[in-house]
Amino acid sequence: MKAILTFHSIDTSGSVLSCAPEAFANLLDALGKSGLPVLGLDELLLQETEAGIAITFDDGMHSVFTAALPALRDHAAAAHLFLTTCAIEKNNQWPGQPRNAPEFDMLTWDEIERLHEAGIFIDSHTHSHPDMRELSDDEMFHECELADDLIEKRLGRRPQYFAYPYGYRNDAVCNYIRNRYKGAVSTELRTLSSREDHAQLPRLDSYYLKNHWLQRNLDSSLSRMYLSVRGVVRTLRGTQ
Ligand SMILES: [Zn+2]
Repeated sequence: MKAILTFHSIDTSGSVLSCAPEAFANLLDALGKSGLPVLGLDELLLQETEAGIAITFDDGMHSVFTAALPALRDHAAAAHLFLTTCAIEKNNQWPGQPRNAPEFDMLTWDEIERLHEAGIFIDSHTHSHPDMRELSDDEMFHECELADDLIEKRLGRRPQYFAYPYGYRNDAVCNYIRNRYKGAVSTELRTLSSREDHAQLPRLDSYYLKNHWLQRNLDSSLSRMYLSVRGVVRTLRGTQ
């Protein structure tokens, strides 16, 4: 099995964007015991890689540094962080954020540098987290270029992968992103198949991994079935 997991914040608030530190550590333990390696996206996406998990964080919440990094270090696990660069050193209340969204403090540049030095891949989630479907070609370029430039200027490495804000995309957005990055992750809820469009990689949201039974059985056909059913339900509701 190959899968990409989505996290936002690692904290005890119980919000829809939060995974408890203990659950995150348990998941890394379970992955270690299952023999499924935690890989960066380059390695996971190789055709010859038969099994593995990639861990991704969207937005750039402060707890990625305080709570996720120590656990990732303990388990020598790779991870990708998709940064919304306008929110750095601020909070996640960017324009267009739903009013009922939980509020989080975001990472500082110093913390992002330390994550980069620790081997976390710092990738792009645009500058201001827009719905990309509503942007002109120029605006898409500006959103991606600004974020990539800020990250490269600070870290000396240009983002290679992209996460669609809210998962929103259409053909025009996908084509632009396909030409710009090695790959892009969406919010489509399923494991990876043997042939994937690298511009629309599916992920499993940690929200659906909170159930301990599911963690223990991550690699079983039952949990795959459960997740694909949830994926269908989510698609039908149009909340993809
Ligand atoms: Zn986001």
